[in-house]
Amino acid sequence: MCDQYTEEQLSFCTNLPKIELHAHLNGSLRDQTIKELADMRKLDPTLCHVVEKGERTLSEVFQLFGVIHQVTTDHAILTRITQEVIEDFAADNVQYLELRTTPKDRLEHGMTKRSYTEAVLQGVQKAKAGGCPTMVRLLLSIDRREDAAAAMATVMLAAELQAEGVVGVDLSGNPTIGSWDTWAPALGHARKLGLRLTLHAAEVYAPAETKQILDFRPDRLGHMCCLDIDLEQQFFSSCIPVELCLSSNIITESVASVSDHHFLPFFRAGHPVILCTDDSGVFHTSLSKEYAIAAHAFGLSQRDLWQLSEQAIEHAFLSADDKHELRQRWAEQRSGSG
Ligand SMILES: [Zn+2]
Repeated sequence: MCDQYTEEQLSFCTNLPKIELHAHLNGSLRDQTIKELADMRKLDPTLCHVVEKGERTLSEVFQLFGVIHQVTTDHAILTRITQEVIEDFAADNVQYLELRTTPKDRLEHGMTKRSYTEAVLQGVQKAKAGGCPTMVRLLLSIDRREDAAAAMATVMLAAELQAEGVVGVDLSGNPTIGSWDTWAPALGHARKLGLRLTLHAAEVYAPAETKQILDFRPDRLGHMCCLDIDLEQQFFSSCIPVELCLSSNIITESVASVSDHHFLPFFRAGHPVILCTDDSGVFHTSLSKEYAIAAHAFGLSQRDLWQLSEQAIEHAFLSADDKHELRQRWAEQRSGSG
């Protein structure tokens, strides 16, 4: 659909060290794993045909998320998929991955928000123990369907698991559902507890809510597709870095085509932007492909691409020491690339 780039561009972007700051665990699964788990669970085959689709329509994307939800009901499976997702990002030369997921209370499956998150953290540990070089941190997401109490429970859990590698909290889910006032107290509390905040915003045109989010001043924003002139002005003067996901925005119809994407005006304005995948499995993409799509559509030079990937380090929710280590990795790979 938007895979327009040359082989040379893709090869350059694959070799480029990269930072992924906006990846949802459930959206980043391998098709092959979903299929295997769906077969194991004996899910209705008519529901599962979307797993084998090459390109998916928006409604097929939603169906696929339904299948994924049905097969991720077991702690061992959560650990496995987390490990696989990390390994896939590592194979794509992603040096730092900030993975996000929504902790779920699914008591019918013996799962709580805490046990869910611990299973995911175990997957992070397993990837590391297996020699995976990618540095990984976790963000816990609040789903927009959740009420104030559930949002606060996620924040408290994130705070308790900071030493285990949870660095922040995200707000995500269907952008037409819920209201800012529901989650604002939990998000404000998260900030007081030292958690970093990245919020999905302006995926649809919702000027009142987008203004509330900008006034709240999160550490990072996701998407920012639908802004009017006033909001764009406030956004630019805020200098809040934004995670941009080209394929995702096009497939979910937030943006009509790559050439219409707001990456270019944001980039030209000098606003801090970070290219990300959102849901690499569901959208059949990779971070290298997203960089290659941007290079092709917006005429980015190799120097621009190095700058984009290296500047993303500054926006990671990492300590100064960890960022220093990443900068060193960039310096080594850049000198090695000739
Ligand atoms: Zn997202």
